[in-house]
Amino acid sequence: APACRERGFEVTVAERGPSPLVGALGGALGSLAATLQRAHGVDLRCGVTVTALKGSKGRLTGAEFSDGSRIEADIAVVALGAVRNTEWLADAGLAAGPRGVACDAGCRAFNMYGIVTDDVFVAGDVARFPHPLFEYQILALEHWGNAVAQAEVAAHNMVSPGPRRRPHLTVPAFWSSQFGLNIKSVGVPTFSDQVVIAQGSLRERRLVAVYGYRGRVTAAVSVNRAKWLEHYQGLIETAAPFPPAPGASDPPNGSGVPVPSDVPSPQTLSHGPTVALTGHLPDRRLTLVRHD
Ligand SMILES: Cc1cc2nc3c(=O)[nH]c(=O)nc-3n(C[C@H](O)[C@H](O)[C@H](O)COP(=O)(O)OP(=O)(O)OC[C@H]3O[C@@H](n4cnc5c(N)ncnc54)[C@H](O)[C@@H]3O)c2cc1C
Repeated sequence: APACRERGFEVTVAERGPSPLVGALGGALGSLAATLQRAHGVDLRCGVTVTALKGSKGRLTGAEFSDGSRIEADIAVVALGAVRNTEWLADAGLAAGPRGVACDAGCRAFNMYGIVTDDVFVAGDVARFPHPLFEYQILALEHWGNAVAQAEVAAHNMVSPGPRRRPHLTVPAFWSSQFGLNIKSVGVPTFSDQVVIAQGSLRERRLVAVYGYRGRVTAAVSVNRAKWLEHYQGLIETAAPFPPAPGASDPPNGSGVPVPSDVPSPQTLSHGPTVALTGHLPDRRLTLVRHD
């Protein structure tokens, strides 16, 4: 939407969730994204889905929405998230599914019963791996930097005997640019039950939001304040107490009181966040085969 608005196009966004980015960043920053989009002239429609794209003579003419409304349109951008192309592994006996191939922290793939293999390694978008900082929930990441770091761990472990194997412990990080705002994230914002504006404010559109889960820091998101993220990454890596102690400078301009992080269940969202908590092994229900 920002890219199209900056070029002067009229833009309508249909968002199934309560606000944009809510699946990746939770309710507070999702509502900031909604405010931003509307302030820049985007016709943002939350809580609706596209039910049909209409066309005539081979060209798109419009779209219909689940609330009964319709618009005329020349171009549709379909951004629904991604599934992994693992169909070719269907008969391989691996823990493979649309969300990827599950593996241990050393990139060794699990077979469909959750037994780790010793000769199949996975890395990058296709890998689902447990992360100790996030209670060993199996994460799937869609970041270039993660793919590179995880590939290095996989390569090391392929040629290293057991005790020399390394775990992949990268803290997830990504950034986005929206209407001139620089948004950066470290950790897993969706792995949270509370969030606090630790610096700045939503009103100023300059802030750091820190996320906590059961009393420890699990993520931080900065808006036009990226220089602080390294500090918060350190808090995530050391499972520091949440809410974090006030910093020496740049105090919050709000109450500084934690509120629920308002992260919706992944099942209710139409889009996948760039860091997904994908639950536990395996990816799908199995029929057990017993060997007597
Ligand atoms: C539109 C878009 C924008 C993005 N922007 C960013 C960004 O700004 N920053 C960022 O960090 N990340 C971004 N990403 C994510 C980033 O591109 C991925 O995280 C990264 O490319 C993952 O690398 P990978 O090697 O795991 O997978 P890929 O780059 O997807 O490579 C997988 C390769 O495997 C091949 N393949 C598939 N099946 C088979 C098969 N059976 N046999 C042989 N080959 C096969 C595919 O053709 C492909 O070439 C973006 C992704 C998209 C789609």
